[in-house]
Amino acid sequence: MKNRWESGDDTGAPIEQLIHQSRLVGAEDSLVLWGGGNNSIKREATDLLGNPIPVMDVKGSGSDMKSIVAEQFPAVRLDWVRPLMARDSMSDEEMVDYLARCLLDPKSPRPSIETLLHAFLPFTAILHTHADAILALTNNAGRETTVRDCYGDEVIIVPYLRPGFELSRLVGEACAAAPDARGLVLMNHGLITWGDTPRAAYDVHIELVSRAESHLAKGRSVTGATTRRDDIDPATLAPLIRGALSERQRVVLRFDDSEEAIRFSMRPDIRQIGDAGPATPDHLLHLGRYPLVLPLEGSSDPREAIANALAEHRERYGRYFAANAGPGQDALPGDPREVIVPGVGVWTAGKDARGSLIVRDIFRHTMAIVEAADEGGGYRTLDDREMFRGEYWPLELYKLTLLPPEKELARHVALVTGAARGIGKAIALRLAAEGAHVVLTDLDLEKSDAIAAEIRGRHGLGRAIAVEMDVTSRTSVADGFRRAALEFGGIDIVVSNAGIARVGRLEELTESDWNDSLAVNATGHFHVTREALSIMKSQGRGGSIVFNATKNVTSPGGGFGAYSVSKAAEAQLCRIAAIEAASFGVRANMVNPDAIFEDSQLWEEIGAGRAAAHGIPLEQLPDFYRNRNLLRQPVTAEDVAEAVLFLAGPRSGRTTGAMIPVDGGIREAFPR
Ligand code: ZN
Repeated sequence: MKNRWESGDDTGAPIEQLIHQSRLVGAEDSLVLWGGGNNSIKREATDLLGNPIPVMDVKGSGSDMKSIVAEQFPAVRLDWVRPLMARDSMSDEEMVDYLARCLLDPKSPRPSIETLLHAFLPFTAILHTHADAILALTNNAGRETTVRDCYGDEVIIVPYLRPGFELSRLVGEACAAAPDARGLVLMNHGLITWGDTPRAAYDVHIELVSRAESHLAKGRSVTGATTRRDDIDPATLAPLIRGALSERQRVVLRFDDSEEAIRFSMRPDIRQIGDAGPATPDHLLHLGRYPLVLPLEGSSDPREAIANALAEHRERYGRYFAANAGPGQDALPGDPREVIVPGVGVWTAGKDARGSLIVRDIFRHTMAIVEAADEGGGYRTLDDREMFRGEYWPLELYKLTLLPPEKELARHVALVTGAARGIGKAIALRLAAEGAHVVLTDLDLEKSDAIAAEIRGRHGLGRAIAVEMDVTSRTSVADGFRRAALEFGGIDIVVSNAGIARVGRLEELTESDWNDSLAVNATGHFHVTREALSIMKSQGRGGSIVFNATKNVTSPGGGFGAYSVSKAAEAQLCRIAAIEAASFGVRANMVNPDAIFEDSQLWEEIGAGRAAAHGIPLEQLPDFYRNRNLLRQPVTAEDVAEAVLFLAGPRSGRTTGAMIPVDGGIREAFPR
């Protein structure tokens, strides 16, 4: 591993040096991942009365090293923390409460759960990571012997113990007993190094990790038990997997078909590795106890194979829980968060795209750890009892109860056509605001890309993608749905919105305007509906399709034949979809908007023609339409998006084949 500390930048204030160290550590994802690892520095400060006191700046719980700032290092009073070392025991809750009272600034973030471990060591600067190489060195059949072979007596070895007061005291005592040690290896957990400065602690850390890496570099190359399965289409398989995994609670998937993932999936010992589980409890909290291994033999029905594998997984998890749980303890869901399909790749699951990405990243590191541990005699992890204590750590379970309630469309995936502007854009933004992941499709990729980026910026990593789609093309639509299945695992909501408007009285209407209208407004919706139904049926978790129709469906207007006729076909398509798809829980409904002017392509196309038809100047058109409706209100794209949201989500769960006008109230257009 490369030492990234360049000479000369270790002269700033202690906290600056600590931040610099954090960033260098954070830049190396085989050292820390997604908020892992922690570091500290001890210094003098003054209390409120101006008296000198010893304090320690320590990384806040969960903050990310690669982007950390000074405010994310709470300062704790060492004169109040150090005496704890004389205690016999302290529960996690007691420890957390106690540390909250030791903060120099009560408004600081919560200090790391491993704060005592830093406080009980007599050194100025401390660095602790869960480096891949250390996990490989401590998760193998050779165990302590492998560690000794690598480091001799230069490091202290502390057997595995769940983080908390006891482990911290044990580490403090072990260091006091071995003053010449250069570092401390926590079995199945990580590495601690120290020094007079953050740089000194960092230098030793990189040196020791590098030695572990080269010690295990001769990792055996495990030959595959299966070959690559190019005959299996991951986009077809993904909705089956997502559907099965979503039985208790919907999940979002991420597919990893990197070379490493495929090679790993083909290992002959993949089942034993799955049984062994994650390399350290810190990873266990994200990866769960067991992955699901899903070999798909040539003749097997994938749906049945997944159902059987999941049933077996649940049974095994149930046995593990029963053997380790205390009286009255509640089981976590325990469903797999990784699905390994030999020869195809690895799917990871989360409550959202970010969650599935975190699992993917941590699992990638697990794969590297497993391969490196081969050299130490094979991958061996903690026993079931310690795994269980890690998984059911009360402090972590308590953290889950602090999470805000999920939004209405959380865990859902929505695809919106014509999403680059106007109504489609408003719908995409509205569904995203309610928690949905959104696939924005449009002919205009640049515009929809910008909206997807806006959604990601506002709602989080991976929450939206943009895909170029021409709804008149069967293959383009099929490709778009394929992308969605590969990106998120499937689809729950489809808003078929893309449309065009051509004006002209029948005797003047050109054949090409007529054909274009039918191609987009009728056949386009058919293409979208067919793909939507196919993927939703595969998933087996129901779904909702919402069509953006028009007020013209119930109240057609002269000079607007191609539009009204093609939109009538769309409306009838919606009803047929409602009839045919009800048997597998998919609903189909439509909204009938009228006169949405803002950012509307439709009005750009027909505005002048409609103004002429009504005998008024173009700029009076919005007022003309506003005065035509009963409420005498302008109708906006956001109003349409509200109706779509209602039809898309669970609140309209008993409504299918229906239309909702969003037109300010037009008597002639009342559905009947
Ligand atoms: Zn740790």
